Amino acid sequence: MLFLLHRPLQEARSMPPTSAPSPRARVRRAPSRADYDRATIDAILDEGLVAHLGFAVDGQPYVIPTLHARSGDVVYVHGSAASRMVRTLAAGTPACLTVTLLDGLVLARSAFHHSMNYRSVVVLGQARLVEGDAERRGALRLFTERLVPGRWDEVRPPTRQELKGTQVLALALDEASAKVRRGGPVDEDEDHALDVWAGVVPLALERGTPEPDERLRPGIAASAAVDGWAATADRRAA
Ligand SMILES: Cc1cc2nc3c(=O)[nH]c(=O)nc-3n(C[C@H](O)[C@H](O)[C@H](O)COP(=O)(O)OP(=O)(O)OC[C@H]3O[C@@H](n4cnc5c(N)ncnc54)[C@H](O)[C@@H]3O)c2cc1C
Repeated sequence: MLFLLHRPLQEARSMPPTSAPSPRARVRRAPSRADYDRATIDAILDEGLVAHLGFAVDGQPYVIPTLHARSGDVVYVHGSAASRMVRTLAAGTPACLTVTLLDGLVLARSAFHHSMNYRSVVVLGQARLVEGDAERRGALRLFTERLVPGRWDEVRPPTRQELKGTQVLALALDEASAKVRRGGPVDEDEDHALDVWAGVVPLALERGTPEPDERLRPGIAASAAVDGWAATADRRAA
């Protein structure tokens, strides 16, 4: 605190948060890997394509994989109005949403110290059923746009019936934590003398070549959104 007082106010304000937003969101195991900065949390949520949503029904926990989309301070999930996940969360049942990005396999000299490099986020809270028409439509657009930017405008919009059957839930990012592991294996000092290869095998999710649907009518032009997205991603990777 004293340290911060000696800094210019602007700089102190822009420091990322170093403490958890709540006691239950504080990373206790390997706390040096914790990161509560929203920029880190947002980046992981935005890169991850799959979230796992945890909730308990009658004392039985369920962890369900699902698509998610962040907008500002909330993360949206959606599903059929008939889904247990949606009905349970809409009723205010406490939820835990997790997104995990796997960056590498960490191969140590001992079995015990094998690990993974990762970036993960855990969000705790109660979801809110999105009822306003504009927010609902905005979230549905986001689910499509975050897969392939520009895709929403290429495709048929949802019908009234499709909209009716889809519920959207919003989970605030008030209680979120990130945990990040980077780097090589952390071996015991004496194990460095072993004749065993150790290191990291990087892992990444790769986009393949688009495969046209078998019922695609002849003469249908390629998707500008898909081509543009692929070109942008390639430029970023170069
Ligand atoms: C790909 C991957 C593989 C992993 N493999 C293992 C493994 O094999 N064994 C193992 O013990 N651990 C593993 N971890 C770490 C694991 O996610 C937990 O952080 C760890 O097990 C500690 O759990 P805990 O309940 O004791 O955490 P605590 O530190 O007690 O959790 C307290 C709070 O910290 C936050 N938190 C905890 N873990 C995370 C996280 N990963 N990301 C964001 N916030 C978090 C949550 O809000 C939680 O409520 C792995 C993580 C990833 C992403």
